Amino acid sequence: MNPEKRRPLIFDIHRYALDDGPGIRTTVFFKGCPLNCIWCHNPEGIASEPELFHQPKNCILCGDCLSVCPEGAITINGCVRINRKLCNGCGLCAAECPGKAMTIKGRYYEPEELVGIILKDKRFFEHSKGGVTFSGGEPTQHCLYLGQVLRKLKDNGVHTALQTCGFFHWDLFETELLDMIDLIYFDIKCLDPDLHLQFTGQSNTNILANFSKLVYMAHSKLTCSIPVISGFTAELGNLKSIAEFIGSIDHLPYRLLPYHPGAIIKASAIGKDAAPNLFAHSIALEKYRDIVKIFDTIVKKKLTGFGGQGSGIGDRGAGIRDKGNSRKTLITSHDK
Ligand code: SF4
Ligand code: SF4
Repeated sequence: MNPEKRRPLIFDIHRYALDDGPGIRTTVFFKGCPLNCIWCHNPEGIASEPELFHQPKNCILCGDCLSVCPEGAITINGCVRINRKLCNGCGLCAAECPGKAMTIKGRYYEPEELVGIILKDKRFFEHSKGGVTFSGGEPTQHCLYLGQVLRKLKDNGVHTALQTCGFFHWDLFETELLDMIDLIYFDIKCLDPDLHLQFTGQSNTNILANFSKLVYMAHSKLTCSIPVISGFTAELGNLKSIAEFIGSIDHLPYRLLPYHPGAIIKASAIGKDAAPNLFAHSIALEKYRDIVKIFDTIVKKKLTGFGGQGSGIGDRGAGIRDKGNSRKTLITSHDK
């Protein structure tokens, strides 16, 4: 189904975010993504439908959820079990749950309502040179809706950023969004099309075509985000090819994003298994520093005439902060 025809759902609104762009930000997470990355940091953002999110640590085993579930999807035997095949995401159990162990991820907001929530923090945005960041999932699955929201935010002078996997319909993106986004964090995961398909479930042809158009039309808004996932994207050949690619474009900022193991807990909360050994694949901070150094060196070597683009290791956020869905940037190279 064309995602533009679905009602956009939002699974989180994170106020006072510090890792999703300059200043203090409100980050809005859209549900639904055309990719299905093995290491996804926000697995609850992949499906477009509402999903039951169960956190056993909050459960007091009261049984209220079991008694209201119309589908018989819940059993309790020392702990709560959910039969995901029977669960339709109706949310009745979440409404009853006293400990908030059950919540539903995915809610529709009228554009005015969403803008109202974002504007609550306008003063913080102004003082910190912050703003709003749209993330997910993939916000560009809903260009028409997002365009409406962005127009209202720009009328109010709010700085706007987008985090995108790059898999979007260019014409809609250009018409509805491009002029109203100040900063675009564009994911580059793999340049090899086969590896990209293997890791994300989608080819990168459309992604790289969109990236090229943005370099040509909106270079100054663009920052590359490169997830560094041991066992997957962190393979030296892959990082080298991305570094050379970035180095071939003048003045293109980039940031390296490490894997966040919190994603494993979130996957389990929606009844999914994370890829085996993802946690074991996490890279120690020291190794990240080495990777960033090598990456910066390759980028600089590739650059001609505009030296100094990769600014070495800027470890804003190196003291790991737990901010829910935000993708933590332990090490940021040349952040805007
Ligand atoms: S969301 Fe609805 S169907 Fe699913 S477990 Fe809760 S009450 Fe049952
Ligand atoms: S209603 Fe909530 S707290 Fe009670 S058993 Fe169900 S999940 Fe646990």
